[in-house]
Amino acid sequence: MTEVDLRLDARWLIPIVPPGTLPNHSLLVKGGRIIAIAPTALAARDFTATEHVRLSSHAILPGLVNAHTHAAMSLLRGIADDVPLKTWLADHIWPCEQRFVSPEFVYDGTLLAAGEMLLGGITCCNDMYFFPDAAAGAYRASGMRAMIGLPVLDFATPYAADVDGYLHAGLAARDTWKNEPLLSFSLAPHAPYTVGDAGWTKIIVYARQLDLPVQTHLLETEDERAQSLALHHVAPLQRLHHLGATGPAFIAIHAVHVDGDDIEILASQSSHVIHCPTSNMKLASGIAPVAALIKRGINVALGSDGAASNNRLDVFAESRLAALLAKIVTGDASAVPAATALKMATLNGACALGLDREIGSLEPGKQADVISVDLGSFAHAPCYDPISHLVHVTGRDQVTDVWVAGARIVAGGMLARLDARDLAQRARLWQDRIEKR
Ligand SMILES: [Zn+2]
Repeated sequence: MTEVDLRLDARWLIPIVPPGTLPNHSLLVKGGRIIAIAPTALAARDFTATEHVRLSSHAILPGLVNAHTHAAMSLLRGIADDVPLKTWLADHIWPCEQRFVSPEFVYDGTLLAAGEMLLGGITCCNDMYFFPDAAAGAYRASGMRAMIGLPVLDFATPYAADVDGYLHAGLAARDTWKNEPLLSFSLAPHAPYTVGDAGWTKIIVYARQLDLPVQTHLLETEDERAQSLALHHVAPLQRLHHLGATGPAFIAIHAVHVDGDDIEILASQSSHVIHCPTSNMKLASGIAPVAALIKRGINVALGSDGAASNNRLDVFAESRLAALLAKIVTGDASAVPAATALKMATLNGACALGLDREIGSLEPGKQADVISVDLGSFAHAPCYDPISHLVHVTGRDQVTDVWVAGARIVAGGMLARLDARDLAQRARLWQDRIEKR
């Protein structure tokens, strides 16, 4: 008998790698890592577990990866609906941020977002926001895994004055937190149109020296291309490519209005695209050509974007939309089948963040970032294919348990480390302040 810390017996185990569903299988965890996957009858014979959880009507799968969000913007959830991106940013979000964003705002907003994401089965996110030091503290308190983007803009905000100021503050935050096992870092120039060539050049130097990924919003709206051609005489992605930003650690967020040349650059550079279907629909930005990107071999993952433009942080919802929109765009019902959508929500996100050796699938040796989804209710019956149900039938409300690196941080649908009443109270206090502005 082998001793383990945790044994999960599941009705269905969906490892992502290899593809498919394993009925009546168990996951064995020791020291925060998966050490074996076995039919439950064999697991009972071969392993003794300190903690044993029976999930008789559940699917277990890797924790979802929210590959693009601005977590602290949860405090601006619903503040400006029904406006396009430019108006949303210039008339609502940026003025509000200038007035209110502080380390306290970011800590409380990130904590609120982490609570929402964990309850919805998201075990890792890729964040991009001001005061990353405060965000890191919130993630540590929550027990959630995160890659924290160190933001850079050409213009001043309450966080920093200029490109050097952003880089200095961001890299100091990374120095403080870089040994935290659940945290990793990237450089996050906001967009080609908000950071000039001089800023991009500095960012690229730091990224290479420190081996950090670079993530940026790219071609979210149609006018970005014309604006770049007028100002720089080159299309946005070609400009970044010429500056040396692209490569296997380059993350293009949105990529709604990429053309054939852009797709060739992303493919040849093994760069990643984060598809944010709800945010793109809500701001009427357009629909990214996901099926074409996948066909060209580009890794496409899923993001919620911030709660101010979504207005929820729900990767189950994004996976269903990704599947449905791809079918509409191509006129091909076989585009983005459920298994592909679920892979986009898990392993592809891990891959985009450079974390695919650690998370994204249930494989021996990987971190035990695992979620359990109850498919037992009549509304899920019958269940011929649990992968189809996870994308097209179920929602985040069916997530019952969440483990990150083997630690159970959601148990029976309740947050184990965060206090739900405290989160609501923090959000209410910020709402009072922002409404009085
Ligand atoms: Zn965004």
